[in-house]
Amino acid sequence: MQTPEKLRQAAARADWRWQDAHAVRSVSDLANYLRLTPVAVKQMAAAAARQPVKITPYYLGLLLPDDPADPLRRMVLPDPRELQISPDELADPIADGGKHCPTPGLTHRHPERALIFPSMQCGGYCRYCFRRQRVGCAAAVWSDEEQANALEYIAQHREIREVILTGGDPLMLPDASLLTLLQRLRRIPHVRLLRVHTRMPAYNPSRITMALTRGLAALQPLWVVTHFNHPRELTPVALRYLARLRRAAPLLNQSVLLRGVNDNSDVLRELGWRLAEAGIKPYYLHHPDRAIGTRHWRTSLTRGRRLWRELWGSLPGYMTPQYVLDLPGGHGKTPVAADYVADAGGNVFHIRGPQGGRTYRYRDGEEPRMNTD
Ligand SMILES: *Cc1c(COP(=O)(O)O)cnc(C)c1O
Ligand code: SF4
Repeated sequence: MQTPEKLRQAAARADWRWQDAHAVRSVSDLANYLRLTPVAVKQMAAAAARQPVKITPYYLGLLLPDDPADPLRRMVLPDPRELQISPDELADPIADGGKHCPTPGLTHRHPERALIFPSMQCGGYCRYCFRRQRVGCAAAVWSDEEQANALEYIAQHREIREVILTGGDPLMLPDASLLTLLQRLRRIPHVRLLRVHTRMPAYNPSRITMALTRGLAALQPLWVVTHFNHPRELTPVALRYLARLRRAAPLLNQSVLLRGVNDNSDVLRELGWRLAEAGIKPYYLHHPDRAIGTRHWRTSLTRGRRLWRELWGSLPGYMTPQYVLDLPGGHGKTPVAADYVADAGGNVFHIRGPQGGRTYRYRDGEEPRMNTD
C-alpha cells in the first residue's frame, strides 16, 4: 500500500490536470490505496469492465481506507451488484434520444431549454450514473462539425432561451474550448441564459482556475449547477474553490438520492446546511432513474417522500431541494414530494401541516375574521 503521507501529498496537489492525469483507473491500482480482499478485487474488476473506474488522488484521499460502507467509497468503487439487471431497467429510462435529439450532442424537449453535451468525459465516474442511457444521442467527443451544427440549430430556434451544458462534464474541456463555446452561445441574441452542470468541484475542485472564473464571470447571466451528494464532499479545499466560483456565477446544486449515501434525513439536512454555507442553493434531489445495474442504489418512492417530509420544516425553505423523478418514457421531471393539498371541491381544500401529520380544512375565498375588540 502507498503510505498515507504519499496519498495526502498527492491529494493536496492543486493542479487539476495533474489530478486528472493521475486518477486511478483500475481496480488493481485501487488495492494500493484501500484495504481490499482478493475476492473484492475480483468482483470489482468484473463490474469495472462495464463502466470505467476513475478516481482522482484528491477524491481518493477522502475515502475511508478500511470502511467498505463509506458513502464516498460507494459512489466511486465498482460493485458486483452493478452486474445485476432488473427487468424494469431494460427500457431506456427516460427516452432522451430519437425525436428529442435533432442533432448529435443536443437534446431539445422543453421548447425554451436546450441541453448540449460538449464532452462525455467526467472528472470521476459515479457508479450510480443515471446518465448511462440518457446520453445515448451524444457523441463521445464533440467534433467541430457537430458543435457547429448544434450552434446552428440553437440559432435557428428562437424559442430557446436557455442553453444547458451537461454531459459528461463540460468542465473536462480545456478553458479555451469551453469559453469559446460559451461565447458563441452568448452571441445568439435569443439565448438569455447559460447554464453549466458539473461534478468537477466534487472530484477535482482545482479545476476552478482563476482563468475559468474570470471567463465565466464575463459571460453573465450564467448559472453553475454543482453535483454534491454527501456533506463530506464539501471539504475545506472544495469550499475554497467554490468561494471563487460563486464570485463568478450564482450556484445551485443537484443531488441524487442514493441508498447508503444520503437516504437519511440527518445527512440530507447537513448537506443542505453545508451547501448554503458555501453559497449554493440546493436545487434538485433526484429520485434515481432506472439505469441498467443500479437497483441497489434505489430507495422506494415512499421512503424518499418520507425523507423529504422530514426535511421540510426542519430546514430553512431555501435549503430544501425539490424532490423530482424523471418519468420513464421521456415525459420529463416531475416533483414527487409529499402532496400537501387535496382539492375537496367547492373551494374547499384539505391541507396538511408542514410536518405531515394533521390535515386542516381550508376554504378559499373566506375573508380573514377581523378582531374588532
Ligand atoms: C433536466 C432537463 C432539463 C433541465 O431541467 P431544469 O428543470 O430546467 O433543470 C432540460 N431538458 C431536459 C431534456 C432535461 O431532462
Ligand atoms: S459526473 Fe455525472 S455524467 Fe459523469 S459519471 Fe457522474 S453522474 Fe454520470
